[in-house]
Amino acid sequence: MSQTMTFQAETQQLLDILIHSLYTEREIFLRELISNASDALNRLQFEQLTSSDILNPEVEPAIRITFDNDAGTLTISDTGIGMTRDEIIENLGTIAKSGAKNFLQRLKDAPNSETAQNIIGQFGVGFYSVFMAADKVRVVSRSYKPDAEAIVWEATGGTTYTLDAGDKATRGTDIILNLKDDAKEFLSEWKLKDIIKRHSDYIAFPIYVGTESTEAVNKQTALWRQSPRETQEDDYKNFYRMFTMDFNEPLYHLHLRADVPMQFYALLFVPGSRENSMFSPRKESGLQLYARKVLIQDYNKDLLPEYLQFVHGVVDSEDLPLNVSRESIKSDRIIANLKKAITSRILGDLKRMAQKERDQYLKIHAQFGRFFKQGLVVTPQDKDDLYDLIFFNSSHDDNPDSFHSLEDYVGRMAEGQNDIYYVIADDFAGAKRSPHLDAFRQRGIEVLYFSDPIDAMLPMGLTEYKNHKFRSVDEGDIDLKDVGKPSEEAEKQAESLPVDTFATLSVRVKEVLGGRVKDVKESKTLVGSPARLISDDAGANRHMYRINRLLDREYQLPIKTLELNPRHPLLHNVSTLLAQNPENPLIDAVIEQVFETALLQDGIHPDPAAMANRLVLLMQAATGTATDALKFDDLPPAVGLPNESDMPDMELDDVVKE
Ligand code: ADP
Ligand code: MG
Repeated sequence: MSQTMTFQAETQQLLDILIHSLYTEREIFLRELISNASDALNRLQFEQLTSSDILNPEVEPAIRITFDNDAGTLTISDTGIGMTRDEIIENLGTIAKSGAKNFLQRLKDAPNSETAQNIIGQFGVGFYSVFMAADKVRVVSRSYKPDAEAIVWEATGGTTYTLDAGDKATRGTDIILNLKDDAKEFLSEWKLKDIIKRHSDYIAFPIYVGTESTEAVNKQTALWRQSPRETQEDDYKNFYRMFTMDFNEPLYHLHLRADVPMQFYALLFVPGSRENSMFSPRKESGLQLYARKVLIQDYNKDLLPEYLQFVHGVVDSEDLPLNVSRESIKSDRIIANLKKAITSRILGDLKRMAQKERDQYLKIHAQFGRFFKQGLVVTPQDKDDLYDLIFFNSSHDDNPDSFHSLEDYVGRMAEGQNDIYYVIADDFAGAKRSPHLDAFRQRGIEVLYFSDPIDAMLPMGLTEYKNHKFRSVDEGDIDLKDVGKPSEEAEKQAESLPVDTFATLSVRVKEVLGGRVKDVKESKTLVGSPARLISDDAGANRHMYRINRLLDREYQLPIKTLELNPRHPLLHNVSTLLAQNPENPLIDAVIEQVFETALLQDGIHPDPAAMANRLVLLMQAATGTATDALKFDDLPPAVGLPNESDMPDMELDDVVKE
């Protein structure tokens, strides 16, 4: 007896759009149905690995498309896993699938039919796209489970569908479309074959068109099993597009065939962009894992290290036992060996590209470089490879578009230089202007700019590169006396404050800044700036506050030592004021401002706008207002006072994915 059921509200909404407003790209319904049939066949094959209790085990796994001109119907049949009554209600009565949900969401954001055409044309929304071409759809399905009964599902795109008992002798699913009057063009063998070739050529099962045909329309080659020598660039691009629905070209592909010690095939891609297209059939990271052409797992994350999870593709092993269960796969020794082999090939290729095809490599780096940096921190055993994959701007050419490897850097080291110097900043401009660079520039020593926000965590992973230690330019004890050669300009430094005068000044600075600084010292190296903040603590957690800030967490300003430049005219002036009248309010205001400017230059000022009021008063003083008319006492409280808040642990993943 027939039973009428109601579609879920979202489904109704989607059907309404598909039926009434979309016409141009409607041939994609065929791609969607073929892809579902192929999934059903894959799942059947997987069941066959572990169970012998399968209906019609002798039936060929295949897809057949037939049509009837007189009746105006088109039928897509597969011999896949089929559906039980419960499954059909669950799968075809509700939108559980992210593709369709995303589609509706996108439409809400941009509700005109042009956008809808566009979205559906590129990506499709699965089964329901049949309603673009059909006014009635009948699904007859029989599950592979031997005791299941056939079921018939029928809908016209209204708010309800019906369920009925069916008679289907064999396993699988037939989808019968009653084509709309204006969709009769699909009743053509030529047309169907053309669509299949364009959209579904790589489907792994034969697709037959016509009742009698025994000749598959699609190539069906598992491209990865083909010899790389016989595979064209375009084959790879097409495969990638069908695999990911990414309409950008991949930045790199690797086609691997290995025989010893393991036999396997792999076809891997670095996508064109970090953003997965929201309609990508690849819903997660991970590689498709086949065992002798049978799809075992759609998303295997154990074949690549964490920092290469952005790679897409297929691995097909000849050695994995066929009766392997999804649970036991993870621990299989073969998987570990595959991972080793694949990873080392990818890393090898990327390293070679980084050296020989720098421009292409830098495109990869721009998208995925931060994963390599994360890898340095979380996968120390791969450090040696990863060191060659990270690039930076640097003071070598001060060009934001020019990237340098560690190898480049070491090759250019100054005389007597042993360490690799870096400056951490929020962005390129901040790095370039950093007062910490004064001394390095003067002596012709290059400094790497760690100016991607993620770079703040790098010091936790960097140890040594080719026996060269990494040092942050704000470390207090860096001694450049015997490194590089000072420029002539540097030789004739401005005159320094007399020792006594400087001592008096530092005492006052310490008084004013109190607990906000650890100490106040004389700088031997500063040139253009009156002051800088240096870190005594060379520990890797030194940059923690940046990471916490990046993650939008509360953070505490680190307490650092303030280095004053005894040659700077500003400090000469302040010393003079101090000698004339220690009560002059300008003295403390300038000290505050010097300190906050140093915070600002390091990119760690918690609230730069808070300096505005003081700056206005200072400008007034500079332009002639008498100091006793200036209300410095009314300024808001100083920034940078330590507080006691507990810092949460950080999670690297959060940083990388920002
Ligand atoms: P998706 O393919 O993204 O899961 P679809 O809307 O295309 O979404 O299909 C919905 C569900 O219906 C599938 O996940 C599957 O469970 C079921 N289904 C569709 N077509 C078939 C088929 N030919 N054989 C078995 N199950 C199917
Ligand atoms: Mg689908």
